[in-house]
Amino acid sequence: MHENISFENLEIWFVTGAQLLYGGETVKQVDAHSTAMVDGLNKGGKLPYKIVRKGTVNSAAEISDKFRAANNDPKCVGIMTWMHTFSPAKMWIGGLKSSRKPILHLHTQFQREIPWSEIDMDFMNLNQSAHGDREFGHVMSRMRKARKVVVGFWEDDDVQNGIAVWMRVCAAWNDAGGMRILRFGDNMNNVAVTDGDKVEAEMVFGYHVDYCPVGDLAAVVAKVAEADVDAMIAVYEKEYVFAPNAAKSGPDHRQVREAARIEIALRQVLEAAGAKAFTTNFDALHGLDQLPGLASQRLMADGYGFGAEGDWKTAALLRTMKVMAHRLPGGTSFLEDYVYHFGKHRNGKDAVLQAHMLEICPTIAAHQPRLEVHPLGIGGKAAPARLVFTAKPGHGVAATVVDMGGRFRLIVNDVDCGAPEADLPKLPVARAFWTPRPDLSVAAHAWILAGGTHHTSFSYDLTPEYFEDFAEIADIELSTIDASTTIYSFKRDLKLNEIYYMFNRALAR
Ligand code: MN
Repeated sequence: MHENISFENLEIWFVTGAQLLYGGETVKQVDAHSTAMVDGLNKGGKLPYKIVRKGTVNSAAEISDKFRAANNDPKCVGIMTWMHTFSPAKMWIGGLKSSRKPILHLHTQFQREIPWSEIDMDFMNLNQSAHGDREFGHVMSRMRKARKVVVGFWEDDDVQNGIAVWMRVCAAWNDAGGMRILRFGDNMNNVAVTDGDKVEAEMVFGYHVDYCPVGDLAAVVAKVAEADVDAMIAVYEKEYVFAPNAAKSGPDHRQVREAARIEIALRQVLEAAGAKAFTTNFDALHGLDQLPGLASQRLMADGYGFGAEGDWKTAALLRTMKVMAHRLPGGTSFLEDYVYHFGKHRNGKDAVLQAHMLEICPTIAAHQPRLEVHPLGIGGKAAPARLVFTAKPGHGVAATVVDMGGRFRLIVNDVDCGAPEADLPKLPVARAFWTPRPDLSVAAHAWILAGGTHHTSFSYDLTPEYFEDFAEIADIELSTIDASTTIYSFKRDLKLNEIYYMFNRALAR
């Protein structure tokens, strides 16, 4: 593992709102309570990185200073606000106007319950979140500022989980802003859904898409030392079970060595470019021995985004999901809808087999992968090495971003992975088998109406809430397909979204 994601230098700023109306003793208590709350959140064990208390703001000037400092600090990837006392919200307009960081509005209060026998007017003046936060919320809504609102007592699991999800999304948003994607070859000829507006993508998501001639990669492959290939083969032998033809004594071991050579070179090229995601195209492999299957699988496992056939939007989204899911136990992979299984007629479930030519991330495997070599049938190159496995059972989400011309639409579907009904002894690729929610018929219908790709980015670790937060920050359309979806409501939502995104630009200022 050469994990290329880190939350180490990230922080969320915690800013408490108040005003200087209630005297010095109140100011001290607001600070003490805020410190205790931030400490409690950090020690709760649920948050993926740290929240840093950045003081209490009592005036428009202090608020503007705070947002300016946040904008200029690369460690700060989001701001949490909480109004302990009343904080007249006109004071916030200037700061919020300039803010370029995601915002979470934590609507909580310091005490869990009312101290019935003790409560007096001093207590009432100090603990005004219930109305102070509404004043703050009003101005956010009036200004049409995107934010996540989390409501509840700050020590409770659901509140801390809601904050944790948003923090992971903030990390992914920060990562997208500096992301470089390398395309080895162009989009597959004539394919519509994998194409799109790279200028608009950079304006909306922040990531940058470059082209790298596959010949440049081939030149690096040619220079890889045999000793480095030997070392890589030793790693493969430790991590995977080799099929007999792929093992050292087997007739196809040569292709495993070529695959190792490609992996070493691909890592070098991506690292030198500072790229966090990449695409390949089976039809553009000049100078390479085989389609980089094994390399793509292993790079995904390290956190790289990947899209096949030049699908750079999927490569970007997969990387973003890898960052959201950093160090969570499930697994995240590129996949493609392949073959349906209409099992309902005999009381089974309608389901879909997910696979690809080669490139599925081993983090979703239910068992140790097998390293196999088989002919590909297209692309006219040598038989490529690949890892073959079945994905584990469990709940996950499949997501995609499509370019609708003028706007991006994020489509998300809750899915339930199950074990295939029988072994697949002749299928030479990794696979997952799932039933989308609410069922295949409604989910596939809705996905098609939304214009969703055949490629998906899938994760066991994420839920639709992550994508809701992400779409809010990116200000893009979100269409979620889940247990509650009906075709009637989904069609109506798509039409309403179309109108909203048409007017949104006119209303934005
Ligand atoms: Mn494909």
